[in-house]
Amino acid sequence: MKPQPLTSAPSDAESRKAVAPVVCYPVERLPRPDLGAYRAVREDWTLVERVTVPAREAACFHAPAGHFVRILSVEGPQVGDLNLFNAADLTERFYSGKTRALCGTHVGPGDQLFSSFPTLRPMATITHDTLDWYGFDAFGGGVHDVIGTRCDPYTHSLLSDGGIYHHCCHSNLTRALAEETGLPLPEAERHVHDVLNVFMCTGFTRDTGQYFMKASPVRPGDYLEFFAEIDLLGCMSACPGGDCSTVHSSDVAACYPLLVEVYKPARLPAGWAPPAVNRYDRTHGTAL
Ligand SMILES: [Zn+2]
Repeated sequence: MKPQPLTSAPSDAESRKAVAPVVCYPVERLPRPDLGAYRAVREDWTLVERVTVPAREAACFHAPAGHFVRILSVEGPQVGDLNLFNAADLTERFYSGKTRALCGTHVGPGDQLFSSFPTLRPMATITHDTLDWYGFDAFGGGVHDVIGTRCDPYTHSLLSDGGIYHHCCHSNLTRALAEETGLPLPEAERHVHDVLNVFMCTGFTRDTGQYFMKASPVRPGDYLEFFAEIDLLGCMSACPGGDCSTVHSSDVAACYPLLVEVYKPARLPAGWAPPAVNRYDRTHGTAL
């Protein structure tokens, strides 16, 4: 947030500011998924798991590699905070920041969700989004962001003079992961990470660069769908912000459940193979 500069502009300020930007990570050489091959196998599949995420709570689900996951809006507009893990190794988890650097601030069909270092590989590929018509609105807002973190009781405490609220997405994810894995609560909490904000409509204000949210355009029946590139443990929170049109970190907003469905296709996408872990040798310039 930079509202009032303390320094005066140099004489060439305008020309410096007029320099055209370049994309930080040119992705021309980034291997891209064959979205058509993924979508072709969606015609013949079997529902193998259905998990309801209660409002202001979280729930876990499993999606073996080669399965599809749908996150559905039911009953009313609701956003969800998604954590993804390698089901066999919780230290490999969704890396929101690097996914943002590679895919942009909001994700959609054809984008891949990348895992943390040192594996840094696609964990999931988005195969359908009934809200992809939204694009970016006049405020710069878009749907399904990887720019927010997750609502949490620590920030809430900072902003409310020590206020306590136990159903932020961070706490919901922590409780659900502890229950799923049997880990003690403090250990489970260490695995909770920055999320994919499913259905959330967000952006940055043009004047101050602040993170904003607005009422999600999601309606019952809408869904985001992705293909599991590796065996996934997912954890989904139905945010206490509801459609995130007003407030979160409280019981004020209207909240609804979310539904997670896992589908097993009759065949795998043509040419698909599980992604290998990252090829960097991890020597960091030294002899191991
Ligand atoms: Zn939340």
